[in-house]
Parts: sequence; C-alpha cells; structure tokens
Amino acid sequence: MLQKLQSETLKVLFENLSYNGGFPVINPATEQELIRLKTSTLEDIDAQIEACKRAQVEWAKLSAKSRSVFLKKWFQLLVEHTEDIAIIITLEQGKPLVESRGEVAYGASFVEWFSEEAKRAYGEVIPAPAADRRLSTIKQPVGVCAAITPWNFPKAMITRKAAPALAAGCGMIIKPSELTPLTALAVMELAHQAGIPKDLLSIVVSEQAAEFGVVLSTDPRIKKISFTGSTRVGKILMKQASDTVKAVSMELGGNAPFIVFEDADLDAAVNGLIASKFRNAGQTCVCTNRLYVHKNVKEAFVAKLLNKMAKLKVANGLAADSNLGPVITMAAKHRLEAVIDQALQEGAKLLNQPKKRSGRFVEPVVLDHVEQSMAIVQQELFGPVLPIITFEHDEQVLMMANDTEYGLACYFYTDSLQRIVTFSEGLEYGMVGVNEGIISTEVAPFGGIKESGVGREGAKQGMDEYLETKYICLGGLS
Ligand code: ADP
Repeated sequence: MLQKLQSETLKVLFENLSYNGGFPVINPATEQELIRLKTSTLEDIDAQIEACKRAQVEWAKLSAKSRSVFLKKWFQLLVEHTEDIAIIITLEQGKPLVESRGEVAYGASFVEWFSEEAKRAYGEVIPAPAADRRLSTIKQPVGVCAAITPWNFPKAMITRKAAPALAAGCGMIIKPSELTPLTALAVMELAHQAGIPKDLLSIVVSEQAAEFGVVLSTDPRIKKISFTGSTRVGKILMKQASDTVKAVSMELGGNAPFIVFEDADLDAAVNGLIASKFRNAGQTCVCTNRLYVHKNVKEAFVAKLLNKMAKLKVANGLAADSNLGPVITMAAKHRLEAVIDQALQEGAKLLNQPKKRSGRFVEPVVLDHVEQSMAIVQQELFGPVLPIITFEHDEQVLMMANDTEYGLACYFYTDSLQRIVTFSEGLEYGMVGVNEGIISTEVAPFGGIKESGVGREGAKQGMDEYLETKYICLGGLS
C-alpha cells in the first residue's frame, strides 16, 4: 500500500502504525492484507476520554472564529491529500477510484461547511412576559462526544460528525469500522497537522466493536454518541446510552423505494436509478432498494435500464474503467446470494444473466415478478441487486413504498405537479429525491425517520446535534 502513496506524512504514519502482531486490514478486491494494526486497549480509551475531557474545556473557550480557522486548515489539508486518501479508500473499501475521489470531496465539504457554521451558533432574545425580566438563550457545546462509523464511507462519515462537533466546541473520540480504519487514521493525522489538538479529537481502532461500543455508549464522561451503521447496532447503542441519558444521533438502515410513474422522463429515471442503485456497489444506506414501475411503461423502462446496465463494469476499483468494485466481505456476498435464491424460490425471475464472479465481486442482478410480500422487499439489500415491482394506481404504490419500518431516503420520477406534491408529502421518509437519484450534500439535512434514525447531519441542523440550548432568565429588574 505504502508504495502507492505520495505524501511523506501518510507514509510515515502507516510505517509507524504497522504492527505484525495486530489485526489485518484486507483489500476486498484482492483479498490481500494491506497492513496489520495494533488494537487500542480499554486502558487507551479510558485515557483518551480523560484527555478529551480536559482538552474540550479549553477548546470551548476559544472564539468561534478561532475554531473555524482550525477547521479551514483541516479542510485545506484534506483537499491537498485528495489522491492519497482516495487510493486508501479504494484499497480498504473497494469502491472505484472515481467514487473515492468523490467521497474525499464530499467528506471535506462538511469540514468547510461547519468551519462556516461555527460562527453562526446563535442564541435568541425572547420577549419577556414581565417588565422586570429579560429572557435569552445561548448555545453551548454538549461536551465530550463519541462517534462510531461504518465502512461504506470511511472518510465522509467521520467528517460529517467530527466537523460539527469541533465547530460547536465539543471534543470527540472516534471508533471507525475495523474493516476500514486506514482512511480514518489518515484523516485524523491531517486534523492534527492542522493544529486540532490530539487530545481533543482522537481515534481508537479495534476489532472488538461490541466491547468498545459499550464503553463509548456508557461512560458518564461522554455526553453524546453519534452512530452510523445498521439499525440492529443502533438499537443496542441507544439502549446502552439510556443509562446515562446521553444525547444520541443515529443514522441507521434504509429501504429506499424508487418509483417511476407513467408520465416520467424514462431516460432521466434510468440514469437516476443507476446512480442511486449501483453507487458503491449498492452499499449505501440511501441506495435504491426496490423499484416500483408503472405497468404501462415497464417494458420500455426495463429495456432502457438493461441496455445501460450492460455497460457497467465490475472490477477492482483501481482499474480506470471500473464502475462497481467488490462488496465488502465474503459474508456480504453470501448474504446477497441467499437473498436472491430465496426470491427466486418465492417466484421472482432473473431479468439479466449475471456472470458468477470469483472473490468478493458481484455482478448486478435484476429480479422481475417481485411481490410486495416477498422477503427481498422488506430488507435492506446493501448490494447490486434490484427487485422490480409493477404497480397500477398511485394510492397502491404510496402504500407499498411506505410499507417498511425504515424511513431514510426515497425517490420518484414524474412530470405531474400534483404527484410531486402528493408524494413529497405522503412518503414517510426523511429525504425525498424528486426526479433526482443522488441527493446528499453538506448543505441539506441528512437523516431518517422511523427505524432509520434520530437526528440530522450536515446543514444548519447538523450543528444543533452538538449544542445544548441554555435558557437564561434575568430577573429583578426595575
Ligand atoms: P454494517 O452492517 O454496515 O457493517 P454495523 O452496524 O455492523 O454496520 O457497523 C457499523 C459500525 O458499528 C462499525 O464501526 C462496527 O465496528 C460497529 N459495531 C458493530 N457491532 C457493534 C456493537 N455491538 N456495538 C458497537 N458498535 C458496533
């Protein structure tokens, strides 16, 4: 791996971190070991929490403008190291290099955005109900925070949490996924180079995810935990966090419907669907999970879709022409194979002829004759598998689209203003893409309802997750 990096800083970092007795980080494309890392210990994490507590007090005393300057410097370093970070993401996570570069830019955009928002943590003056009082609110940092992040966006999920935390005056301890710790370590190193104190923003790496999760969600010195990952683990962390009544932000699973109405621009819808479904080999929580297409346009739509899909190349993400890299683990591949087999047994039909691939590569699969009641419709697929359900009436498709415990993202394509309003308001999701398949941006609130999560990331709402509102009643005036 080291030979592929340009930056001396990052080369030295990984040379120092390489530890033969540690746990391996595997390249999912080649299944080869990239490096072995020393695992953090419970003593390490205890010391880091204590150090963060002290550092946070000093950090919170800085002016918002000073904190903003540190974040801007971090942003610059992230941008300057785009190519190296992109290579690290592709090596440990598998996505095509062009997508990794996109993730570096997307991840850095949160640092830039919150460097600006740092200066806008406004309180309010409230008209008092009595003449002898003056009422106001101020915003204050929640304190020491913890973040647990997933492998599918090893950079962006860190900056989307750390940047608002630091902007607000909080400290943070981050535990990245054990599958993709290298990007996190690089991003952290650049934060420290930008002058952000090591004690204030630190990282723990370990394969013992559950054990570290207990510490980060129960230690009373930690006031907030922010998690991105599965709904299953999110529920565990929320339960654990309840003993100390910690604030929580949870970005959990999704089951995004993608609806194509008969009045849709079919070419635009195909492009939107391909971007939404096959990005990161289908491994994002906002990826389309199920396609609903009106029966009158189904044939035309599917023909266009298959035509475009035939051009998608599944290959090592380092190859210039790769559109889909591998899935993250063999277990993920086997889970997808089992889901497809079950759908076929329940009556679904393959619409394309995906080649069997070795290693962790999975060719895109399209399944027709899928019914709403099938297991494949009710679970988050997290892979390049697309089930198609045909519909006839608007009320029917709205009901089917909402028929899930998840509520993260959804998409629909139509030309009708009436439908745009009815479905934007009627779909029970935190985010709606109307005639658009890619909707994430640092300036808009990202997050879900129902079992997809609690809280919002990015946008002005993202800062509030790391701020407390304090009400001050000034009385006894004449
Ligand atoms: P995914 O299914 O996408 O891998 P997970 O929810 O399993 O999502 O993982 C997301 C993050 O949660 C990773 O950093 C992982 O190490 C961590 N994790 C997994 N299990 C637990 C747990 N029991 N407690 C705390 N964190 C966990």
